[in-house]
Amino acid sequence: MSSANDPIRMVDLLTQYQRIKEEIDQAVSDVLNSGQFIQDKHVHDFEKTIANFLNTSHVVTCGNGTDALQIALMSLKLEPGSEVIVPAYTYFATVEVVALLGLTPVIVDVDPEFFTLDPRCVQEAITDNTAAIIPVHLFGQCADLGSLKNIATENGLYIIEDNAQAFGADYIFPDNSQKKAGTIGHLGTTSFYPTKNLGAYGDGGAVFCADPELERRIRLLANHGQTSKYVHELIGINSRLDEMQAAILGVKLNHQHTFNQLRRSVAAIYEKELENLREVKLPSTASYSTHVYHQYVIQVQKGDREGLIKHLTTAGVPSNVYCPIPMHKQQAMQGVSSNAHCPVSEDLAMTCLCLPMHTELTQDEVSFICEQILNYYQ
Ligand SMILES: *Cc1c(COP(=O)(O)O)cnc(C)c1O
Repeated sequence: MSSANDPIRMVDLLTQYQRIKEEIDQAVSDVLNSGQFIQDKHVHDFEKTIANFLNTSHVVTCGNGTDALQIALMSLKLEPGSEVIVPAYTYFATVEVVALLGLTPVIVDVDPEFFTLDPRCVQEAITDNTAAIIPVHLFGQCADLGSLKNIATENGLYIIEDNAQAFGADYIFPDNSQKKAGTIGHLGTTSFYPTKNLGAYGDGGAVFCADPELERRIRLLANHGQTSKYVHELIGINSRLDEMQAAILGVKLNHQHTFNQLRRSVAAIYEKELENLREVKLPSTASYSTHVYHQYVIQVQKGDREGLIKHLTTAGVPSNVYCPIPMHKQQAMQGVSSNAHCPVSEDLAMTCLCLPMHTELTQDEVSFICEQILNYYQ
């Protein structure tokens, strides 16, 4: 368990492991003693458990969250050159897979309040070649799926939710009914990278869908397009979750509600202690989503960030700049989708700062972090 002398960490997977050590060690030992390491009982069980948790029909696990996006896109059989609308403010993988598959990423801006795809920008970007939209549920809350779904329906577009960052969050419909993030579009994907809200002790990912025919294609695509041993129906890739990770994820999924609740408690302390600080803008929660705080992201004035980071570092408080270069400004995107106009994303790239956020932060640690931030502005 963490002690008073431990440094404050951005994430703390070791202390979290100690919290659930017995169960994890048992699960790992079960796999070792089964002698089966690929596509066996633990993977099948985990796919069922996670489908149940998300209340969706089909879950196909794969090697990582980037593969999940790639397989999801491949399953839709889009024409080469088809346009796929993606946000400028995200992790590179969202944009990269589109270009990698010979499709055209159309990079558009995000909402200044919630940092997710701005439906007005999506609407403006639609052409005869648009085939799909990839909203990213950034930092732990859902994009505006209601508006995006309307646009998609009107224009006959697919929606693939990139849910690498909001596993367990709920989208709230106007009638107050809820559905889990990742299960609302045609397809949803997630990442089990260790630092994500549901993280493995290695790599992993999954694709979610409700359509059995899509599920069949996704399963084939993740496994060389293979229908039975040495028989290949499609050109696919090789991307799989292994038994060890599935067993670990199965244990951690049982704690998901608690873990997301712990993240919310940390966010509540930040909010309470920083709410009167005028110089800092705290994260806003959208009316249509619950928040699972993958990241706790504050916004500061343009000239303030470097000074604040330095001040915090000196006090022993780590912080992190997420997405310092928006997608359309990345060197790899020059000539692909570089003429995008995304002033909000460019602004966020210069003003956002991620504070420590994980399940093991103590009240004292969060108060200490807030105290250091308040000191900086005094
Ligand atoms: C982490 C992440 C991914 C990629 O997941 P990997 O498992 O690292 O491949 C994709 N999109 C977003 C928004 C992410 O945060």
